[in-house]
Amino acid sequence: MSVLHAISFDVEEYYQVANLRQNFPKADWDAIPSRLSIGMERILGALEKHNARATFFFLGWIAERHPDWVQRCLEAGHEVASHGYDHDFLWDLGPEGVESDLERTEQVLVAAGAPKPTGFRASTFTLTRETFWAMDILARRGYRYDSSVHPVRHPTYGIRDFEPSPSLVKTKEGDLVEFPVSTRKIFGRNFPVGGGGYFRLYPGALIRSSVANLEARGRPACLYLHPWEFDPEQPRAKTSATKAFRHYVGLNKTLPRLEALLAQFQFVGLEEALEESGDLRRR
Ligand SMILES: [Zn+2]
Repeated sequence: MSVLHAISFDVEEYYQVANLRQNFPKADWDAIPSRLSIGMERILGALEKHNARATFFFLGWIAERHPDWVQRCLEAGHEVASHGYDHDFLWDLGPEGVESDLERTEQVLVAAGAPKPTGFRASTFTLTRETFWAMDILARRGYRYDSSVHPVRHPTYGIRDFEPSPSLVKTKEGDLVEFPVSTRKIFGRNFPVGGGGYFRLYPGALIRSSVANLEARGRPACLYLHPWEFDPEQPRAKTSATKAFRHYVGLNKTLPRLEALLAQFQFVGLEEALEESGDLRRR
């Protein structure tokens, strides 16, 4: 039996990415023209062409201004989940801040016509050992799964020894499933292959063979991309060489790479993949 893999899109504008924070302060966001539609049209088109479904983790800020995109995703049969309100890091928000950030985003998504979200992805993988208390809050608010832990070694985020496959997280408020973005073990160390700059930087064949490896073990992959990664013509920010590389490398490769994956493997949203794999009980 083939495996249903998970694919997700964190719905945010190119100017909301943590990597370019210094260039685009929050106070300026409303004044910058939106380029969301460019990426979203390409993503929805590719998913439809290959009969795939996905999870769209919306920022509340986006859902408030573009409820039409929440609608489009729902009408196409995709899952709509929460990426928090406006991309604050969990350690900056603190427990009370996370609680109100989640609540605000839930309200906005429901107002846009979506069901109350059951999945969450924190801004910039800021769910770490230090912010693991967020799991209690998610469980209490009825979330069924989280996809915010990155089991890699990274200077600011990640839990390097965390289980790389879906696993049960027990909290005093109830249980939920953690579905980390896929990594690949190379020389005993986990490397991110499920998305971000690496997805565009590594050879496409390496990404596909990583998914095939998981499939051979009967385990679902978890990939993540952003609408701005499908928009190579976006305005260039003046930033450091490292940050520019991370943001702009291989932007013209994202769409063909996604298409190649969708052609080879079967992709659905995270909740559906977790139900299919047996990590989440079917509702
Ligand atoms: Zn994000």
